[in-house]
Amino acid sequence: PETPSSSGSDTSRPPLKPAEERLMVAVRVRPLKNDEPHRVLYAADRKSVILEDSDKSDAIRQKKGVERHYTFDVVFNETSFQEEVYDVTTRSLVKDVLNGYNGTVFAYGATGAGKTHTMVGDRHHPGIMIRALNDIFEAVKDKEDEYSVTMSYLELYNENIRDLLNPASGYLELREDSRGRSIQVSGLTEISTTSTDEVMQLLQKGNKARTVEPTAMNQTSSRSHALLSVTVRHTVPVNKRDHLRMRIKQGRLFMIDLAGSERANKTKNRGKRLQEGAHINRSLLALGNCINALAGGARYVNYRDSKLTRLLKDALSGNCKTVMIAHVSPSANQKDESRNTLIYADRANNISTKVERNVFDVSYQVTQYQTVVNELRAEISRL
Ligand code: ADP
Ligand code: MG
Repeated sequence: PETPSSSGSDTSRPPLKPAEERLMVAVRVRPLKNDEPHRVLYAADRKSVILEDSDKSDAIRQKKGVERHYTFDVVFNETSFQEEVYDVTTRSLVKDVLNGYNGTVFAYGATGAGKTHTMVGDRHHPGIMIRALNDIFEAVKDKEDEYSVTMSYLELYNENIRDLLNPASGYLELREDSRGRSIQVSGLTEISTTSTDEVMQLLQKGNKARTVEPTAMNQTSSRSHALLSVTVRHTVPVNKRDHLRMRIKQGRLFMIDLAGSERANKTKNRGKRLQEGAHINRSLLALGNCINALAGGARYVNYRDSKLTRLLKDALSGNCKTVMIAHVSPSANQKDESRNTLIYADRANNISTKVERNVFDVSYQVTQYQTVVNELRAEISRL
């Protein structure tokens, strides 16, 4: 399992067995808008949706009853509130992260299907990112000496990584640690705060900095992926008498608002924008390939095809509890996108990960600081 860098310390891990966890797949159907044509998609019950899968006229459709059922872990219909979506998908992940597990929630779906509404929302309808941070801050309140909370927020656009908390810093590179096990974004801002107001402002500023390009499909289409990462580290003495031996639990929560999953040709992109579409498809295509491979039980899964899959490797295969929220519009003119999203989500249903708690003990002894100092020296000389 991934542990925080503990090199040079006396590390002993309690024997925890990894537990197999299936990826949770939720589907959220957004309300039909006034200017949209008729509805072709319904939430049938708490676990399934029906897609009228026919281009035939209403009369024929009724006669033949051409429709398809898709079943998931949970389905949210248009009357579901933000709070309910958070409670069912993310609240328990937050508890796990406070206990030293890793968790990931990602929003998938075509542009306009409701991903940003679910993940970010607005002031009156706060989304998952805000609610999760609130719960984390509430849990660590008045225990700042035991807990540290840090967060970062990045954008992946055109296979380029930008720091949404410091957009002026340009493109950032991915770097793997020497053992090739954990992946880092070098130079990414890590802020440490437990103020909800401050975080709201930072996220809003970050969202404004996201690359937004108008496309034929949606005026405010976002062609970028936004990844919010929150790390919670809990440090307490192993026992009350000995304050030199500390037990550290570290959990990380990834909350991801993916770019639109629609095909580039549907948005009638031309020139520069077509290339952007191609790049976005590269990341989402790679994600789809990984999901297919994992769902089919493949022995080899290629995460190296895109930056998104390199960043999500742990979330999909490794030590992480993962939730996918697939978003669909009920509208007839979004039927192809909705069908593709449902098929994608259906495949993801078969993935499981092995989760393990990130707990380790550290002895603070002078001789061991020497090793840490040497490592830091080596790090500095590499910069
Ligand atoms: P995406 O991020 O997938 O492109 P958005 O979240 O921006 O889509 O949603 C598109 C529009 O639909 C926005 O105006 C948003 O407020 C609205 N919307 C999306 N989902 C819901 C919902 N569940 N309830 C009410 N409005 C929604
Ligand atoms: Mg969006």
